[in-house]
Amino acid sequence: MLAARLASILPALSPRELLEVSMVASIAGELSEGRLSDRRPFRAPHHSASMAAMVGGGVRARPGEVSLAHRGVLFLDEFPEFSPAVLDSLRQPIESGDSVIARANHRVTYPARFQLVAAMNPCRCGMAGEPGHVCARGARCVTDYQARISGPLMDRIDIRIDVPAVTAFDLIQPAPAERSQAVRARVEAARGRQARRFEALGLPPATLNAQMPAALVETVAAPDAAGTRLLHDAAEQMKFSARAYHRILKVARTLADLAGSERVGRAHLAEAISYRVVSENRQAAA
Ligand SMILES: [Zn+2]
Repeated sequence: MLAARLASILPALSPRELLEVSMVASIAGELSEGRLSDRRPFRAPHHSASMAAMVGGGVRARPGEVSLAHRGVLFLDEFPEFSPAVLDSLRQPIESGDSVIARANHRVTYPARFQLVAAMNPCRCGMAGEPGHVCARGARCVTDYQARISGPLMDRIDIRIDVPAVTAFDLIQPAPAERSQAVRARVEAARGRQARRFEALGLPPATLNAQMPAALVETVAAPDAAGTRLLHDAAEQMKFSARAYHRILKVARTLADLAGSERVGRAHLAEAISYRVVSENRQAAA
């Protein structure tokens, strides 16, 4: 449900983005009754999806789900249940923002810049970490299931959150929540800051932190002294890859943008790092 709501807190498509999204939908024959909507796409393919369905292909080199989710959200539920080949094929579009389909004597390239959201159970039986539960298959229930997501793919996921089971009490007394509109206003403000910053640096319009070139990360997302110390300590202890290091800085930059802060501070970095580490109880279960 959270994933399906994500599109509603994202800014509307700009005219230029709308054109890109409509072009892909049109090639895929999915332009419903020729009507255009400025809502961002939300795609949720089933875990039985083939590689051609996911990244594009087939006889007519149709765009796949990664392209139909262009400028929107690609949601993969039951993440470890997708075939390893399909999961592996996601890495290229995640990195490059497009999907390349190789044919016998030519290549077709479709845009594929999407936000990936994936959901998974902690283990095969789905109960690891629940108070008092012991998996029938023991610790392997967790390790075998989580190992289905390869290290390189997991490394490309910037924000990881444990979602505890909803109790009956939560349903009876739902916590007060903000409306999507209010959250969207904050997202728009943060994206506006990013767009102005990157435009001043000569980058294409509407560039986001996630797309910032590696060479810019160290300057644009440079943390203050306390933040730098924290990041160095964490990098040493947790043995981050170079990619992870850069991605943590980008997430911290976004958190600072959401807070309206010019500098990336220690609190922004601490939050960004916390999104990357596996929770304590998950590790204990493993
Ligand atoms: Zn289990």
